[in-house]
Amino acid sequence: MSTDNSVTPVDAGALDGFDHETDVLVVGYGCAGASAALEAAAAGAEVIVLEKFSGGGGSSALSGGEMYLGGGTDIQRACGFEDTAEDMAAFLLAALGPDADRAKVELYSRESTRHYQWLVDHGVPFKPSLWDSPTWVPPTDDGLMWMGENAWPFAELAKPAPRGHRVTSDGFGGKVLMQKLSEAVAATSVTVHTDSNATRLITEAGRVVGVVAKQYGRLHTYRARRGVVLTTGGFADNAEMVAQHAPQLVGLGVNSDGGDDGRGVVMAQAAGAAVRHMSAAQVGISLIPGMMVRGMIVDDKGRRFINEDVYPGLVGQAALFKHGLKVWVILDEQAYEEVPENERWGVQPHFVAETLDDLEQQIGMPPGALQTTITEYNRHAAEGSDPYFHKAPRWLRPLRSPFAAIDVQRGIAPPEYGAAGRGGAEVFTIGGLHTTVDGHVLDLDGAPIPGLFAAGRATSGLHSWGYISGTSLGDGTFFGRRAGATAAAPA
Ligand SMILES: Cc1cc2nc3c(=O)[nH]c(=O)nc-3n(C[C@H](O)[C@H](O)[C@H](O)COP(=O)(O)OP(=O)(O)OC[C@H]3O[C@@H](n4cnc5c(N)ncnc54)[C@H](O)[C@@H]3O)c2cc1C
Repeated sequence: MSTDNSVTPVDAGALDGFDHETDVLVVGYGCAGASAALEAAAAGAEVIVLEKFSGGGGSSALSGGEMYLGGGTDIQRACGFEDTAEDMAAFLLAALGPDADRAKVELYSRESTRHYQWLVDHGVPFKPSLWDSPTWVPPTDDGLMWMGENAWPFAELAKPAPRGHRVTSDGFGGKVLMQKLSEAVAATSVTVHTDSNATRLITEAGRVVGVVAKQYGRLHTYRARRGVVLTTGGFADNAEMVAQHAPQLVGLGVNSDGGDDGRGVVMAQAAGAAVRHMSAAQVGISLIPGMMVRGMIVDDKGRRFINEDVYPGLVGQAALFKHGLKVWVILDEQAYEEVPENERWGVQPHFVAETLDDLEQQIGMPPGALQTTITEYNRHAAEGSDPYFHKAPRWLRPLRSPFAAIDVQRGIAPPEYGAAGRGGAEVFTIGGLHTTVDGHVLDLDGAPIPGLFAAGRATSGLHSWGYISGTSLGDGTFFGRRAGATAAAPA
């Protein structure tokens, strides 16, 4: 067998037997892989998980631990919110679209309370208290948060309810999520092989029957009697793939554990898999949402372009894809002071001025640009309205001197990182393998590739273009479970 970097599937007939054999082989030990392994084992299958790093966790363990769940979960009800699967689906179809995966969104929403319970049953904690202000990650341990459901236009499309379920943690909750899922995996018969980098699929008469993995420079072959589940994460760390599929992300910071090299996606493509939405991405724009919502965000001509109370990732997408990230947060002293210090992440204004004329000059905007925008904004804000972008009245107030501006290209430093990320935005990809709701990987004819399953960011999940925090860990765990269960069913 070739030991080069080829991704072409290896024919089982060319092998001299297999080094390892199992029922279900899960490739990648993040949230999707852990969930797939748990359900495959629960269905009675023998399971091996391959992980290329020395330990599991993936990007899931570094994440904020926010999971998009709803339809009336225990903590929604404890916080006094009624919710339905229909309203949840209507919000997701609008926010993750256009053309989000309707079958996945509707199933995910319908099953959401049961998925919440599954997480709780596996030890994942959620505190029944609400953080009630736009933010990336609450500075408290509150378990419920809004993800822009109460912002225009979404509040008109579906009855709003907060659906951001945040794993209880001191800081980012992803480490707790992965600790709990890993503990649950350890309590089963699942075997985890670390330092095992899967490089190629193995096929036999049109069926995927295993993988080749590199361990300390040596190639090992794994046979999967029932199925291979790819849960290898996205491809934001693969510069070549990003340039090919999502060129607007080139040069931006990456929101990942550094291992999103897209190998799982390419391995499957080499076996005939189709992909979807490869140019789509979450855009974690470098700003503090609590500052933006109390002021405004403008482009390089001083113009607003979105209501500042939507989920900040949607602001990021608009800022990157429509304005090349040449955007500034404009606020006044009161707006800055109102943001609690532990929510500011050390961000201070880059420009401060008594007059808008002076602020325009400092930023380098055309004279009068900001003055026009703020005069008009203030006129309507004084009456509690925003006829241009429909920001909720709660956040409307005329902005007064002294004014300040924050240049998002300069970056922010979340306390969990310890240092500023690359300026402008940090991104991860949300497109990937085309799968069914049961995790079957589809080929270019739309037919399932026998023996091949996938979930998490290696796939195109609920999303097409839009992204809302919590939908990655949410669909990764939910469709990871389904892929694991389907793969475990005897062939
Ligand atoms: C700082 C940060 C904050 C975030 N916050 C949130 C949030 O609050 N909510 C949310 O929904 N999303 C969040 N995200 C995004 C989310 O964490 C990821 O999109 C999600 O965890 C992906 O899950 P996954 O299981 O598909 O991949 P991962 O968790 O990345 O797991 C993939 C695993 O596969 C392994 N692997 C890859 N290739 C191979 C191979 N060839 N062979 C063997 N193993 C392989 C990797 O090493 C990795 O361990 C955040 C991301 C970051 C970085």
